[in-house]
Amino acid sequence: MKEKILIVEDNPQNVRLIEMTLKSKNYTLLKATDGEEALDMATRERPDLIIMDLRLPKMNGLEVTRKLRENPTFSHTPVIGVTAYAMKGDREKVLESGCDAYLSKPINTRELPEVVAKMLSQQRKITPDLKGDEFV
Ligand code: MN
Repeated sequence: MKEKILIVEDNPQNVRLIEMTLKSKNYTLLKATDGEEALDMATRERPDLIIMDLRLPKMNGLEVTRKLRENPTFSHTPVIGVTAYAMKGDREKVLESGCDAYLSKPINTRELPEVVAKMLSQQRKITPDLKGDEFV
């Protein structure tokens, strides 16, 4: 089954860039452009991985990630936080919110698909049987 990736990003140029880096892989790409849409979309679609811009309209990415982690459905879903923040301590703040990884902007088009592939393969090892039981 195709793995579903939710791209949460409010800047259309960045959305296109992220899509471009992932389009050669066999993923289903879903998109959300603000924090509330991200939560709705995640709840409805249960993506296998989320790429989360942290500066978003309505609800920022840290808050969205914290809310997702409160829901057992998303306790193990890999979340990659993406941000232009470069302040000291931000990395810690991002990881504290529940993100599993942190990438800074501008997006590195080689690094992103590698991190995505790596996290999806780790995820498959952690929860090999979970996928089919989630809806029981
Ligand atoms: Mn943004």
